[in-house]
Amino acid sequence: MKGKKLPPGLHRDTLAIRAGIAPSQYGENSEALYLTSGFLQPDAETSAHRFANPQEGYTYGRTSNPTVTGFEQRLAAMEGTEAAIGTSTGMAAILLLGMGLLKTGDHVICSRSVFGSTLNLFAKEFGKFGVQSTFVSQTDLHEWKAAVRPNTKLLFAETPTNPLTDVCDIQALADIAHGAGALLTVDNCFCTPALQRPTELGADLVIHSGTKYLDGQGRVMAGAICGPEKLVNDVFAPIVRTAGMTLAPFNAWVVIKGLETLGIRMQAHCANALAVARFLAAQPAVTRVYYPGLESHPQHALALRQQSGLGGPIVSFDVKGSDPDTLRRNAFKVIDSCEVLSIATNLGDTKSIISHSATTSHGRLSEEQRQAAGIGQGLVRLAVGLEHVEDIKADLQRGLSKL
Ligand SMILES: *Cc1c(COP(=O)(O)O)cnc(C)c1O
Repeated sequence: MKGKKLPPGLHRDTLAIRAGIAPSQYGENSEALYLTSGFLQPDAETSAHRFANPQEGYTYGRTSNPTVTGFEQRLAAMEGTEAAIGTSTGMAAILLLGMGLLKTGDHVICSRSVFGSTLNLFAKEFGKFGVQSTFVSQTDLHEWKAAVRPNTKLLFAETPTNPLTDVCDIQALADIAHGAGALLTVDNCFCTPALQRPTELGADLVIHSGTKYLDGQGRVMAGAICGPEKLVNDVFAPIVRTAGMTLAPFNAWVVIKGLETLGIRMQAHCANALAVARFLAAQPAVTRVYYPGLESHPQHALALRQQSGLGGPIVSFDVKGSDPDTLRRNAFKVIDSCEVLSIATNLGDTKSIISHSATTSHGRLSEEQRQAAGIGQGLVRLAVGLEHVEDIKADLQRGLSKL
C-alpha cells in the first residue's frame, strides 16, 4: 500500500511522527484505528484482483489492515529498511523468520545469550523439523566463524544481551554471515532504531518485540521483522497470510503512537540508566555493575559506536554475599525493599522494573547452566524507567543499606 508522500531526507525523529499511511477521506490528523476483520470490495472483479495481489488492496484482516500497514511503514522508515511486517508478538516475528528462511537440514548459528524463548524456539521447536542450531559466545567471533557449515543459512544475534548487557559486533557478524552465504538477523529490542540501526552495520534483517520500548508504556503485545522488500513481501507476508501470526490493529495503533515519542523516551531511559549505573558502582554492597555506558564495561567503546553513544536502558548488578544462599537473600532484600519500582519481569516501560534473573527469566536453567551463563544468585536486573532518577536511586538505597 502507498505511504504518505513526504519530502526525501527527513530525520528519523520526524519519520517517527510523520511516516505511515495517508489520512482517510476525513482528514484525521492522528492516525486512524481501523477495527475491522473484513473489507468491502467495490465489485467482484476488483475483489478477485486484490485476492491475487494483496499489495493492491485490503481484503481480510489476517492478510493486512491499514493501521498495521501504518505501523509497518513507520517502523521501516525508522530502521532504514525497505519494508517491515508486523506480527502478534516478538516471538511470532522470530517464528515467522524461521518459517520463512529455514527448512529441514538447514543450520543456524545463534548467540548463547539471546532471549530464553528464542533459544527454545531454535533448539526445540525448529529442532523438531530437522533444523540444526549451534549456540556460540556472544562476544567471541572465532566461535561464530568456527561454527559455520556448508548448510548454514542464518546467524542470529541480540545486542546488548539480557541481563548481562554483553555487546556483539554487528559489522563483524555480518561479514561472517555473508562470507558463508548466510543472512544476519539482529534482535534490536533493547536499543530500538532510536539508538541502533543494525542494517546500517550490515545486518540483513531486524527483529522487534513491539511489546517493549516501541510501545514503551507496557500496554500491548506486538512484533515485527524489518528488511528488504523482496523478503518481506514475497517470503514473510504470504506466511502471515497462511499461518496467521497477524498483528492486531488495536495493538498496531498503540505502538504507532508509541513510536512518536521513542526518540525522546530512549534518550531519557539511557540518561536515567547511566546515572543509576554510576550510583550502583559507588555502593559498597554492590560488587559488580553491568552497563555498556560505563567505562568499566568490556565492550564500552563498541557499544557507544553501535548505539549512538548511549549505553541503553538496562542495568544489572551483583550484590555482595559469600555463598549462593546469602547472595539470593541479599538480592531479594534489595528487590523487596523497593517501594516505587515494580517487581516484574517485562521491560520497556515508563515504570522501572526490578527482577531477579536466576529465579525468573533464567529459572528453568540448572545451577551449572546459570553459572556458565554468568547469572549468579546475587544478580539483579533493572529496566530503568522514566521516574525521577533520585527516586529510583533512593528506592534501591533502601535495600542496599540493609546489606
Ligand atoms: C521480550 C523479548 C522478545 C519477545 O517478545 P514478545 O513480544 O514478548 O514475544 C524477543 N527478544 C527480546 C530481546 C525480548 O526482550
